[in-house]
Amino acid sequence: MTSDEIRETFLSFFEQRGHRRLPSASLVPAAFDPSVLLTTAGMHPLKPYFLGQEAPPAPRLTSCQKVFRTPDIDIVGTTTRHLTFFEMLGNFSMGDYFKQGAVEFAWDLSLNGFGFDPEQIWITVFEGDDELGLGPDEEAISAWEAVGVPRERIVLCPRSENFWQAGPIGPCGPCSELYYDRGLDWGAPDDLPGGENERFLEYWNLVFMQFNQDPVNDLTPLPAQNIDTGLGLNRMAVIQQGTDTVFETDQFLPLVQLGEELSGRTYGESFEVDRALRILADHTRGMTFLVADGVVPSNEDRGYVLRRIMRRAIQQGRSLGIEGTFLPRFSERVTELMGAAYPELHEQRESIDKWLRAEEESFGRTLEQGTRMLSDIVARARENGEEGVGADDLFRLHDTFGFPFDLSRELLAQEGLGSDEEGFETLMAEQRERSRSGSGGKRPGGLAGFESLFGTGASLAPTRFTGYDTLEQGT
Ligand code: ATP
Ligand code: MG
Ligand code: MG
Ligand code: MG
Repeated sequence: MTSDEIRETFLSFFEQRGHRRLPSASLVPAAFDPSVLLTTAGMHPLKPYFLGQEAPPAPRLTSCQKVFRTPDIDIVGTTTRHLTFFEMLGNFSMGDYFKQGAVEFAWDLSLNGFGFDPEQIWITVFEGDDELGLGPDEEAISAWEAVGVPRERIVLCPRSENFWQAGPIGPCGPCSELYYDRGLDWGAPDDLPGGENERFLEYWNLVFMQFNQDPVNDLTPLPAQNIDTGLGLNRMAVIQQGTDTVFETDQFLPLVQLGEELSGRTYGESFEVDRALRILADHTRGMTFLVADGVVPSNEDRGYVLRRIMRRAIQQGRSLGIEGTFLPRFSERVTELMGAAYPELHEQRESIDKWLRAEEESFGRTLEQGTRMLSDIVARARENGEEGVGADDLFRLHDTFGFPFDLSRELLAQEGLGSDEEGFETLMAEQRERSRSGSGGKRPGGLAGFESLFGTGASLAPTRFTGYDTLEQGT
């Protein structure tokens, strides 16, 4: 099954069962939702319905939503299953069916739509939590037993894994996940789903939205019990296409191959090369979709997320030996692969090309200089027998040369050296204070700010954006 077929199989399955098909919303959340920088789950655009603030267009909905997960940026390429940008398929019930109904649909589609062997499916459910005052989710266990899942393949998991919350406030509830057992080639006989092992591939999360977490009353029951599910299209592609990782599936292999072509390296050659080729494939896809939805590189908020993946991709490309401007080559291929399902890629082609080219041209110079400086710093640290690099060096790289802290930290870690993050943050705070008193606190935005960053160096160097990583979780 191709990725396009997976998408259609899912959406038509639910359409045939009374769900209204909704188009994907933008990666940029609507103005009413300041809790997230980027859409990280299919339920985000539907939040007002879940909260009972607006009437849903129908009680049963289904969608394929574009999502982007900032917290996963660092692990892309090191696991078989994590991407930054991906498509999340979902079915939603607004006060209509609840646990039993959601479980029956998921089971039926897994077996009859996607052709799974029932013995390869494992289930996790919420084990309860004292602080929340909740016991194990017996209702979910019974629902799974009712469709025929033996109790041995239902595993209890803690709040950290199986209680879903979009942030400190908002709708939430216990969840139940479906895992595909990839067999003993991928792990040990006593491995269980819900951990970090790769034997069990999580492909679908069913969230039973029962509560609203509010700052005053803690957990209060929602006006109606809702279902929110998320199935990762690319993980289903791994299972359907029998590949080891998401990067060999049909949406990714052509991008990995472009990386091979441009660098003369071979996928499978070494862990470092594979990781770099995977990061390139993932990040170029992500940046293409972000720009198509109107995000432009900047030093703040979602513009910084975009800039961060652009710079990481540029650095990885250079480390593979790719010369010249290459980001636009990748975005063209992304558009070839995904443009039929996402016409905005065609519509925004010029803008995508322009922003990718601009960032690559300006950061290319910064990167060369910064990398040279960083290797001097590494050599010095080694000579002095130090275990890490101090805040002054890191700040100078960032502030004077525009070399991002995230990148320094990552490259230093590869050399086995630590970074004084706390000291760096202190220097950053001091600098913010200085620029606030000097300029009224507002940095120039848009293209003007972007150009002056590289024209003047000093005070407009990129601000490292933190704080949203923990917020951005979702189905
Ligand atoms: P994991 O434990 O593997 O990190 P998760 O529990 O964080 O996944 P959920 O928040 O439950 O994922 O998201 C719903 C579904 O979206 C997952 O079951 C999975 O199929 C898919 N998914 C989640 N994160 C990613 C990612 N980074 N890349 C690709 N697919 C993902
Ligand atoms: Mg995750
Ligand atoms: Mg998980
Ligand atoms: Mg999950």
